[in-house]
Formats: sequence, C-alpha cells, structure tokens
Amino acid sequence: MMDPSSSDSVLNPGDVDYEFESNEVPEPLSVVDDELVPKVGMTFTTLEDAGKFYRNYAKAAGFSTRVRCINRKGNEIKNQLITCSREGKWKSKISPTEKTNPTAGLNCPTRIYIHTLKDVGAWIISKVVLDHSHPCCPSKAEMLKQHRELSMSIRRTIENNDEAGIRPSKTYQSFVAAAEGHRELNFIEKDVRNYITREVRNVSEQEDAKEFGKYLLRMKEKNPNFFFELELEEDQSIKLAFWADARSRAAFEYFGDVISFDTTYNTNRYNLVCGSFVGVNHHGQSTLLGCSLMKNEEIDSFKWLFQCWLRCMGGNAPKGFLTDQCASMKRAVEACMPTTVHRWCIWHIMKKIPSKLNGYKGHVDIEQQMSHVVWNSHSKDSFDRNWKDFLVNFGLADNKWLSDMYEDRHIWVPIYLNHHFWAGMRSTQRSESMHSFFNKYITRNSSLIQFVKQYDNCLRSREQAERESDAADFHTVIPCATKSSIEAQFQDAYTHAKFREVQAQFRGKANCITRLKNSALGYSVYEVGEQVSSSIFDKFAVTYDSVAAEVKCQCLLFESRGILCRHALSVLSFEQVSQVSPRYILERWSKKVKRRHTHIKSSHDEPLMEPRSKRFDQLVFRSQNICEFASESEELTAILHRAYDNVMAEMEALKGKRKGTSSLSHEDANLESVNELQSPPRIRTRGRPKNRLGSKLEKQIANATKKKKTKVLSEVNVMFFKFCYIQINLFDAASVAHSSCSQYQGEVINYQFRVPAAGDNSLGV
Ligand SMILES: [Zn+2]
Ligand SMILES: [Zn+2]
Repeated sequence: MMDPSSSDSVLNPGDVDYEFESNEVPEPLSVVDDELVPKVGMTFTTLEDAGKFYRNYAKAAGFSTRVRCINRKGNEIKNQLITCSREGKWKSKISPTEKTNPTAGLNCPTRIYIHTLKDVGAWIISKVVLDHSHPCCPSKAEMLKQHRELSMSIRRTIENNDEAGIRPSKTYQSFVAAAEGHRELNFIEKDVRNYITREVRNVSEQEDAKEFGKYLLRMKEKNPNFFFELELEEDQSIKLAFWADARSRAAFEYFGDVISFDTTYNTNRYNLVCGSFVGVNHHGQSTLLGCSLMKNEEIDSFKWLFQCWLRCMGGNAPKGFLTDQCASMKRAVEACMPTTVHRWCIWHIMKKIPSKLNGYKGHVDIEQQMSHVVWNSHSKDSFDRNWKDFLVNFGLADNKWLSDMYEDRHIWVPIYLNHHFWAGMRSTQRSESMHSFFNKYITRNSSLIQFVKQYDNCLRSREQAERESDAADFHTVIPCATKSSIEAQFQDAYTHAKFREVQAQFRGKANCITRLKNSALGYSVYEVGEQVSSSIFDKFAVTYDSVAAEVKCQCLLFESRGILCRHALSVLSFEQVSQVSPRYILERWSKKVKRRHTHIKSSHDEPLMEPRSKRFDQLVFRSQNICEFASESEELTAILHRAYDNVMAEMEALKGKRKGTSSLSHEDANLESVNELQSPPRIRTRGRPKNRLGSKLEKQIANATKKKKTKVLSEVNVMFFKFCYIQINLFDAASVAHSSCSQYQGEVINYQFRVPAAGDNSLGV
C-alpha cells in the first residue's frame, strides 16, 4: 500500500535548473564505472546510504534523482522508490499560455526500488531500470542542482570573504576568474548566495542577542581588559550596550584628550542607534575608543553611556568633546563631564543654514557672509562686531534660529574654542567617516553579530594603519625643505604626518611680512601680514617674549592644533631664534614616545570554526608554502608528488583499518579517536531488544554486499566524524561554562554554555 501523503507527489520544478538542461545535445551514453551501477540485490546499512549511492550513479550517468514515494507501516519506512527527475509529466495549475518555465517531465522510466530487509535490518535494491527516455549528459551533470556542490576550499573562501565584507557577486567573480582556463565551476552564483544566507549568516532573531552576549564574553576571556556593559529591559532585551577592547582602553591614555562622539542609524535590524567614540592618534588618524548601541537618544541614555564610557576609561574625562548639535547630548555632557569643553560640530551647523534661512531673499549671500564672520573673526570682540553687522546688513535681527545660535556661540564658533586643544578636530566628520567604513558592509537588516564583526574589522584596519605609519616613521625620514634648524627639530621629533603639517607652515611663511610694532624689556609685539590673494592681506598680532622664549599668535593654530603657525615662525626668524622651546614640540605628535597600547592587539574576534575548518585552513596554509617551494623545479615537484602518493596511501590504509572493530584504552586513546566515537544506532523496537543483534547484523551485511559497498560506507563514516565533532564540542563547552559565566550572569542573559574559543579542544587523555 502506498502512503497517500507521499505517493501523489508532483514534480517540483525547482529541483532542476532548466537553464542548464535546455540546450542539451544528445550524447552517446558514456560508460559508467561498473562499481557505481545499481544492481538488484545490493544491500545497504541505511536507506540514506542507498539514496546516496544512487545519487552518485546519477551524477556519473548525467541525470538527477528524486525520491518519488515512500511506503510506511506505522512510523517505519518499508520501501522507497527513487526515480530519474524527468519521470512523470508535471501538470501545472497555470495555463500553458501563461506559463513560461520549461517542464522537465518526460515520463522517464529510470528508477530503483529499495525495500527493507526486515530480518537483518538492512536495505536492498529490489528493482532497477537503467534506460532513460531522454539523452543524459554526464559532462553537464555537475550543473544539475542535485550535483552542484561547494568544496571545502570554496566554502572557506566564501566565509572569509563575507567576513571581510566582500559582496557575494564579487566573490563569485573571483572564483570564475581563478577557474578560467583550467576548469569549469560546478556551482553558480546563486549557490554562493544561498550558502551565505543559510550557513554563514544564519542567525535567528532569538539567537542574535545571545550570540552578541557570547561575543562579549569571548572577548573578555581573550583579554580581561575588554570592557562591556549592558542595560536590559524587563523582557531581557538590550536597551543599551557599550563595549571597548583592551587596546582602545590603553590607547585612551594617549589619545583620550579630545573625543568626537557621533551617532548613526540603519546599522542593524533592531533599529538600535550606533554611537562611537573616536580619538586622534599621533599620526592624526582616527582611532576608535569605544562603541555603543542604544534603543533611543534620550538624555538618560546618553548619561548612562557617557558614565559607562568614563568608568571604562579610568574616570578621566577628556579635555574636549565634539558632538553634533543635539540638546539631549548637550545636557548629558554637562552632567557627566562638567570640566570638559563641549563643542558642536561647525560643519553640521553650517549645513543647516539653507534649511533655516531658506525664506530669505539672497540666502546664498547670507550663507557666505555668515561663514566668513564665523571663520575669519580673530578675536571675540571682532566676532561680536562682525555678527551684528551681518544681522543688520541682511535684516536678520529678528531671526530666532540665529539669535539662539548667537546665545550658544561659545560652543561652536572657532574663536571661542580655539584656545583649547582640539588635536585638529573641528567637526564630527571623523566619526562619520568611521561610520561609513562599516556602513558599507552592514544594512538596516544586519544582525548584531554582523554588526560586531564589521566593527571588529574596523578596529583591525585602524590598528593596521597605525602600525604601518609607525613603521614608516621608524624606517624613513622626510627631508627638510629649508635650512632652518627649527624645521630640523620637528623633523627629528614628529611623526611624518605631523611633520608635513609643520612643513606646510614653513612654506606659508613665504607669504608673510613681519613688522615690529613695539618692544620693551624683551617683550615684542609684531603685526604679521599674510598675503592670501593678490590684493588681500590678513593681519595677525604675534607677541614674542624673549625671556620666556614664548611666542603667541592670534590665529591660535598652536593652541588648537599643536602646530606652530607660519606667523609665529616668521617672528621667530625675525628674532633669529635657532631652536624653539621644548614646549612647542608636543609629545602628542612625537614619534619617539613608547606608547603602551601598541603592544596590545585589538581583541578582535576570531571566526568560530568547526575543528574541521580549522584543520583545513592550517593544512592549506602549510601546503601553500610547500607548493611554492616545490614549484621551483621539476625535480622538487616530482619529490612532492611522490610524497603525496605515499601520504595518500598511508591515510587510506589508516581509514580502512579504522573500519574494523577496535578498542580504546586510556593508554592509546587520543583526541582524534575520541572524536570519532559514535553512538550505537538508535533502536526503535517495541518490547525487549533482540539478543546479540549487532554482531550478527555486521556479518550478514558484510556477506550480502561484499566489496561493492565499501566506498559507500567510507563516505558515511566521514559524515559521522563531522557529526561527532560537533557533539563533543558542545559537551566540552558545557563543562567549562559554569566557572567562566557565573560572574556575568547579572549583566548578560543567562548562558547555557560558552562557545569554545580557538584551540580549545583540550579533551585529550
Ligand atoms: Zn531519465
Ligand atoms: Zn598664526
């Protein structure tokens, strides 16, 4: 009796990829290796083995298979019919005039019947039809969906590329480019996409937060200085999260003086706002000093975050803090960092002008004039004057937005802020460019796990950039452009990036005319005129105290950026000063300071890999070096080929030996052998189990199948090994979980077990 639920199965058009079958040209039937051809009387230990055997035959013969119907008795399968996928006629419910998909059904009779051998508990092929009603094409069989597969090395490349944020289409193109000339790919781009969505990024929403929590724990375990804190809602969902790696925390000591903080959206599927703390390193590069995810942007959220961040960085508030114009951030900064100078991003404010002043006639002129007043007022008094003139000129005295901005002038207008050190930061664009780095790879649909991966990538690339610049500073020297011994002082001390800025000021000196206004008791006041265009001169007041060796310029470049300005340099030349006071050579920009954080690797995550993937990667890495060495000559290549042959023989022999019975004792057991332990087959019998079934079964199957089945069995073994690894790793992890997790349980959602860290397979005897 056929099971009604499965016997009336219809052909599923998705099983065949028509694009590869439509151009089929009849080919002579190629001869398939006799070992692969199904024959009546062949037996298999499991139904899966039989199906797999038939699929292998189909691949060799050039067709694909389908399980047509399964007959059951109760819960137990009695027999199964597997046919060629072009069996039957598929009747679509859509009328043929509308339907455009080609059909595959051709009433092909090719099939095998498998039914259970009740007495021995094995499976036997009871009927075989080999002839098809259509031509088969073995050379194209690999393009049939059933036979398309991604090899281990392809899978590892896809995983790595996805991690690095490379799009699937690019990854596929790289495979095509690499394959060109010597072989065709046996998979299509869709397979790459499917592999990524099903295997690589397969994180469910329920698992995502847990995986995120596990990531944090893993990082903490790698380096105890990793810092994180979570604030949870009543339902245990994430409300606020902050974390910073050990390297960032150490770097704060050197680069924590001025911070840009900015938020960005669309980085994850939960609509959590991402906020990042960005500092400037000694090369003037942006450096990450903590990351956060927030459910909202309310004052309390920012307060929680800033306090958390300060705690993480040892309680030392930065001197300067740069943000976009945002009322709740402002309140939070005032509350959490009362001694810190808060600055609004001027770029962000100037960007608002068109929308705020759109209603006025000539708003382009307004914008230009306002920009001029803001940037070119060299004292607070002159700013006040210029601002009032500007309002009067354009009839803007009643404008609410402008009068509010004037009230807040001390928090955004450069002349009010530039006597503080800003390390070259004026806008939050540093944060923005940092965000755009990982925004390229994540979207509003990304999981938290993808988000932290990309943040990790960002950390890694910043670390790499700093290390490259450090190396360049150590190994090379930028030649001086002038004979000035002051320039040589900076050449000796500063990083390349900062020395270039100093050199730019030396070049700018050529446009400056220095005029002594008055001088008394070694204290001189100069007026430096700088030609900024053919007819325009800017004037700067510079003072020089010869006793204290102190030079001050109105433009405040040294105060705000730590770089002596061209005006001050002109005056120093005028005064014939040959060496500047050490106070003008900042440690902040020095290449000679040994910075502690450079010895700490930013604790980015290592991809969690199955032991098999890990072994594969290690083998590939090693053999690539060996191959490079061997490819040098024919002789060396021949040696390697011989060695490969020997090694293959040895490995196959070992695999063959393992198939027989064996014993494990505490003397010879190792991790490998324990990993290969398998559970006895699950027996679903009613009543008492039959006595000594196992050994009898083995013998009967061995007798029935003789040699033909050995290949099939060995493949099944491989599958079993893989399964066992996973099982044992979970077990291993669970046993360690208690000790390492208990301390975080208050902060993070309850963890059942820890994911094993790299090289954590310490189960050996
Ligand atoms: Zn067929
Ligand atoms: Zn100046």
